[in-house]
Amino acid sequence: MAEINKTGTLLTGAAAAAALAQEMRAQLDMLRARGVLPCLAMLRVGERGEALAYERAATKRCTALGIRVRSVALPESVSQAELLETVQQLNADAQVHGILPLLPLPTGLDAAALCRALAPEKDVDGLTPASRAALYAGEPCFAPCTAEACLALLRHYGAALDGQHAVVVGRSDVVGKPLAMLLLAQNATVTVCHSHTRELAALCRTADILLVAAGQRGLITERYVRAGQIVLDVGIHMGEGGVLCGDVDFAAVEPVVAALTPVPGGVGAVTNTVLAAHVLAAALAQNGLGKEFEKKFEKTKKSVDKG
Ligand code: NAD
Repeated sequence: MAEINKTGTLLTGAAAAAALAQEMRAQLDMLRARGVLPCLAMLRVGERGEALAYERAATKRCTALGIRVRSVALPESVSQAELLETVQQLNADAQVHGILPLLPLPTGLDAAALCRALAPEKDVDGLTPASRAALYAGEPCFAPCTAEACLALLRHYGAALDGQHAVVVGRSDVVGKPLAMLLLAQNATVTVCHSHTRELAALCRTADILLVAAGQRGLITERYVRAGQIVLDVGIHMGEGGVLCGDVDFAAVEPVVAALTPVPGGVGAVTNTVLAAHVLAAALAQNGLGKEFEKKFEKTKKSVDKG
């Protein structure tokens, strides 16, 4: 386990992802011994640049980790019925262990209906109502990969969560809300902020751990932080000259806080490894080797049960 010291520690995603990948090796061997090749189906509608880029990056990472990726591409003209039919086929396909729809869908298609149609046991990005309910109840489920990547980073760097004040900026269904649930399950005291929150800077300064997923480039400046904090930046934006940057003004915040994730190379660098880990866990569970999967969530459930 790496450690955070009192000066500006860079929380790099590559180190946390490598540790996670190491943990996955034994599980992969277990599946291979049974002749099972874990497989992720990525479901894309249309040719949106962002979806294509995400698909490329996720395919590269999953393949490198021994996960087969099946790319299922539908034309933008696909009907809702055809889209749901494709989901049903993937649900029923025993060779496919995880399904990841690339969202958002083109206008006119109903993403909520698509998420409802996914088989919860193949829902590797926590999109179905069943996964969301299980996350809320602290039951075994797949949480959205980005939210879980934040926890994996904190775990890797040995950050204490029990009793710590975590401030989450953002309340989206894909990042902010699930992140708050995961932190609560680890006994953090959680404050969730959003676009209607008053005195955001003052609230952020009260955090021991500040997690920012606002989708606002450079929102968090030195005014929002104080010495000793751990700051995770989930935001991804295309900055000037095609350089990626986050929701945190890195140059302004880094000299102040104890530890900070860079963008790129922070949370985003862990997300696809978490996705691969979920596909692996799904393949284990679907092949009667679910113990590993259950164990993974045992701790979460216990802390929620404790009240
Ligand atoms: P979103 O737009 O769905 O949600 C943004 C949230 O931030 C909303 O709840 C909104 O109320 C809040 N917010 C917006 N402006 C705010 C402000 N000025 N003050 C306080 N709260 C504010 O975005 P999302 O899908 O949750 O994504 C957030 C960011 O994370 C984006 O930059 C996105 O690109 C990035 N992202 C990164 C990864 C990754 O793997 N690193 C994955 C998903 C999303």
